[in-house]
Amino acid sequence: MYKKQLENPILKASFEKILAGNEEWVKQVKEDTTGKLQQLAQGQSPELLWIGCADSRVPANQITNTLPGEVFVHRNIANMCVHSDMNMLSVLDYAVNVLKVKHIIVAGHYGCGGVSAALSRNQFGIIDNWLCHIKDVYRFHSDEIDAIEDEVQKVNRLVELNVAEQVFNLCTTSIVQNAWKERNDLAVHGMVIDIATGKLIDLNITFTDSLGLGKVFAFK
Ligand SMILES: [Zn+2]
Repeated sequence: MYKKQLENPILKASFEKILAGNEEWVKQVKEDTTGKLQQLAQGQSPELLWIGCADSRVPANQITNTLPGEVFVHRNIANMCVHSDMNMLSVLDYAVNVLKVKHIIVAGHYGCGGVSAALSRNQFGIIDNWLCHIKDVYRFHSDEIDAIEDEVQKVNRLVELNVAEQVFNLCTTSIVQNAWKERNDLAVHGMVIDIATGKLIDLNITFTDSLGLGKVFAFK
């Protein structure tokens, strides 16, 4: 098998740091007296599906103080739930229908670079097409966003409105609605992380059935 030696010393040191970190983790798994970490190889039964931003500052396990095995995770730029995203739909279907998670949290975060970029007219490359989904959310709420003068507050309010929209998008999928027909223990929540404090703020946008979705969206 082809193996390229890392010649650039900075690249090499950076890579070795990753491997050293893993050595530490291997030690922790080995020495875990609860046995929980060793049992992970047997399977998983998480109760939570986390759909969060790809931003490195908002890792699901640390934010919820949970261990590996406790949270099923999907992350992308700006925690979007796009109806035709096969990646998200596959994660959602597996989490809801196989793992039978009880909670789905769409977790946005204040200061989100994706949301901030969507509020500008600058081009950033291929991501502009992804960000258009956030611009759509802005379009629904442009009066409210435009009335906010402070740029930081503008972004943070759109972060909240975007979470609300993505929660709605999730709830309108056939996957979530069919699950609600079969069981009454699935809740979808909209939340925002304040990175400065680590606090996960409940936006009180929670759906446990399709009643609030409206005629066109609620499937028979
Ligand atoms: Zn973000």
